[in-house]
Amino acid sequence: MASVKEVYRAMSLIVILDDRATNRTIFAQLAASLEPGLDVRTFGAPDEALAFLADRNPALVITDYKMPVMDGAEFTRRLRAIPNGADVPVIVITAYEDRSFRLRALEAGATDFLLYPVDHQEFLVRARNLLTLGRQQQIIKRRTELLERELEESERTRQVEIRSSRERLAQVIDTMPAMISAVDTEGRLEFINAYQAAFLGLDARECIGQDATCMFGSQHRERMVSLDRMVIESGRALPSYEEEIVDRKGNTHVFLTTKSPLFDKDHRVVGVLTTALDITERKQAESRLRYLAHHDPLTDLPNRVLLGKRMERKLARRRYGDHQFALHFLDLDRFKGVNDVLGHHSGDQLLQAVAKRLRETVRETDLVARLGGDEFAILQSPISTAEEAAALAQKVLDALSEPFVFHGHQIELSACIGITLYPSDGQDVEELLRNADLAMYRAKDEGSGTYQFFVDDMNRRAFETARLESDLRSSFANKHFRLHYQPQLCLRSGKIAGAEALLRWNRPGIGEVPPSEFLPLAEEIGLIASLSSWVLQEVCTTAARWQSLGLRTIRCAVNLSPITFRRQDVYAMVVSALEHSGLDPAWLELELTESILLENNDDVKATLRALQALGVGLALDDFGTGYSSLSYVKNFPVDRIKIDQSFIRDLKTDPSNTTIVRAIINLSHGLNLGVVAEGVETMEQCTQLAADGCDLIQGYYVSPPLPAEDFGRLLELDTTEPLAGIVRA
Ligand code: C2E
Ligand code: MG
Ligand code: MG
Repeated sequence: MASVKEVYRAMSLIVILDDRATNRTIFAQLAASLEPGLDVRTFGAPDEALAFLADRNPALVITDYKMPVMDGAEFTRRLRAIPNGADVPVIVITAYEDRSFRLRALEAGATDFLLYPVDHQEFLVRARNLLTLGRQQQIIKRRTELLERELEESERTRQVEIRSSRERLAQVIDTMPAMISAVDTEGRLEFINAYQAAFLGLDARECIGQDATCMFGSQHRERMVSLDRMVIESGRALPSYEEEIVDRKGNTHVFLTTKSPLFDKDHRVVGVLTTALDITERKQAESRLRYLAHHDPLTDLPNRVLLGKRMERKLARRRYGDHQFALHFLDLDRFKGVNDVLGHHSGDQLLQAVAKRLRETVRETDLVARLGGDEFAILQSPISTAEEAAALAQKVLDALSEPFVFHGHQIELSACIGITLYPSDGQDVEELLRNADLAMYRAKDEGSGTYQFFVDDMNRRAFETARLESDLRSSFANKHFRLHYQPQLCLRSGKIAGAEALLRWNRPGIGEVPPSEFLPLAEEIGLIASLSSWVLQEVCTTAARWQSLGLRTIRCAVNLSPITFRRQDVYAMVVSALEHSGLDPAWLELELTESILLENNDDVKATLRALQALGVGLALDDFGTGYSSLSYVKNFPVDRIKIDQSFIRDLKTDPSNTTIVRAIINLSHGLNLGVVAEGVETMEQCTQLAADGCDLIQGYYVSPPLPAEDFGRLLELDTTEPLAGIVRA
């Protein structure tokens, strides 16, 4: 910026205009005396002065008013019109009587006046003041201009910086190996990154403003809408969940997806941001690791861990009347000797050969595991009698007694087997394994190549059973049974769509006993018949009462044991309960287990068809704990699958469950069956299930089973708003 000195130097020109030469000389002398270095120019004619000033920058102009061709006012007006004349101070010299002239001069833009005849002192004072004022104005003007320029410049750089940082951010978002998109509350796509567009084979620009569901196929679309709705309604991010998405080449990838709300400045939800990380490779690595953790590297057989898991799954949801299972504990005789003589390498090869033979001897539904060393186990399932277990044990011993041919040697091998039966010989994995081990040692005592069943303390058991039996009978007579109802929540509407009735026994002197502890005996002693028809009657009456109270109409499910199905006329029982209560059959559902269908019994089939024709719903309970094959379901009139809670429980920790659950849901939908997930306890499980397209959830996350009155109150709450449970976290 120009310094003050420079401005002073640049503004040293004083122009004097007067038609009288004497005046010009006097004024010029006076002006020149103002300060050294001034350039004073005089003119007699205004035209000449204007021509001179056209490309100069004067510091002060002094003009006479009265001149022959052009007066001082007109001169000033013209001066103001040229570029450098706009701001220059102009002094007009007028006579006393010239008031009207003064006014004209003012209007034309004069800065000050001097009276004629001019007082020299006054001339000097006014001229100096105006000279300084003009220069100061110049300085201020220049500073202002400079400031403006600087401001403009910095604004321009700021804009450039913003643009480039936005571009950089967009670049980062675009190149990140994750799908990132945002929708508004109406579900219109507001943003989609390049990675996602490329993955799905879309043109990002064309998609913007469209309904976001245009990105995916119809199944994925529905889930996306319901998950986005959960975010918009709750104003909270969903826990991340896994989903499978097919790319434009048709390959399936697994993504870990997160959805979170976008807010405006008033903290209102204006959209949903979705980020999805491709974890396909991680999943593959995980499944490899899982395989290694569950298998014996030498024989490739399942190991103790996997055997335990399989047994647990069977134990978890087992009902009496379903098929039992047997656990065989097998130990090779004198294997150590073989190892010592032939060496470890051959020992290993022999174990592999044994594994192969065992696998060839059992059925497809049985599981052979290596527990370690020369110990193996066989989970034989299902069985109906102990004789079947004995037959398999003998078959295995026979298979092993065939000599193994090895590098030209013949090796004779034998084994001993201990057998436990579920449920009679133990209630959990540990107990069953321990007792099978004990039985195996008894077999060793008998001699090589033998098997033994586990033998329990029979008296104690008989006594306890007798007491339980008498308590059960008197409780039924005294009405010590109650029903609790557990809601089933529709993931699409967020409302309660159904309830499962669960039996509760208040055992005198002991308190509430879970159904798993008394139902087996109730079935054995035949009490199940009266119990089942009481449950049916009670449920239908309660459901009809809720409807008559104007509560939302929901479907009520009743569990039926396989024994009831085999031994009783379920159709007649159902018709009677419906008639007595006046309940429309559409609101009743029966829960059956896989084993009923597996029997492939024509009578059962006929009963199921008749029930369905009546309008009663049929659900397949505890799905996944048995044969987990939907192929047989096709031949039965089933409406709904209930995925067993053991799969839901480990949804996050056991990734194979995520895959199984997703497959069950997809297959069920393919067969036009609804899906209920049981045992849903957390928001994470709920989100994952919604992402996988599950229809209904049941579990503590929504509510525990409730007495009828409490359930009625829950229904009242549910009539207007979507149940808070779904967005409860
Ligand atoms: P189910 O039909 O699979 O019933 C679901 C079981 O899961 C119930 O156990 C319920 O209380 C429990 N449950 C529900 N949500 C959760 C959860 O979030 N986490 C966990 N850990 N558990 C949850 P409950 O009431 O002990 O019943 C056990 C079984 O007894 C039932 O399994 C059903 O097979 C049988 N049962 C119950 N009532 C009847 C009945 O009236 N008749 C017959 N035949 N069987 C019944
Ligand atoms: Mg059930
Ligand atoms: Mg169940």
